[in-house]
Amino acid sequence: MATAAAQERCVFCEIVAGRLPASFVYTDDDVVAFLDIRPLTSGHLLVIPRQHADRLETLDPGPGAQVFTVAQQLAVRLRRSGFCAGTNLFLADGVLAGQEVFHVHLHVIPRTQRDGFGLRARRRGQPDRAKLDATADLIRERLGRPPPDDQLSPHPPAEPPGGGGAPSR
Ligand code: 5GP
Ligand code: ZN
Repeated sequence: MATAAAQERCVFCEIVAGRLPASFVYTDDDVVAFLDIRPLTSGHLLVIPRQHADRLETLDPGPGAQVFTVAQQLAVRLRRSGFCAGTNLFLADGVLAGQEVFHVHLHVIPRTQRDGFGLRARRRGQPDRAKLDATADLIRERLGRPPPDDQLSPHPPAEPPGGGGAPSR
């Protein structure tokens, strides 16, 4: 939880509190969505929790889930209405990931033909299965998860980190 002083300086908290203007498209008890002041495409939205959280690490799971649910609904309804043909969702967590405003926000970027938006990245070849498995081993180790039960299946269905149950600590 951020200090009151840190929250006071947070531009998105100011928007939530109504002390800075924003063009809202959606509000509920946990989440608000408004237009990005420097849009990447027409209709570029930011979905944010009302409660201040600087990064994913400090975001409560309830509001976090609602941020995604609202972004999903906005994306679906924008596409169905013909506003756009598709959507990109994007979230920057941390300076290295490009985060500039330290109040968690999910970008909803409506896509249309020739809108000029694109992601630039270089794929790291196509690692063989042994390399992919070694990376999965490393990640499971870092997450503190046990190796998969080989008895079940050679390729068990993918589970989210935490296996869908209570997260291990
Ligand atoms: P980030 O790089 O942190 O993922 O994105 C921050 C986003 O917040 C940027 O797209 C930027 O244009 C937007 N932004 C920054 N300040 C304001 C503001 O005062 N109002 C609105 N509506 N958007 C803002
Ligand atoms: Zn804030």
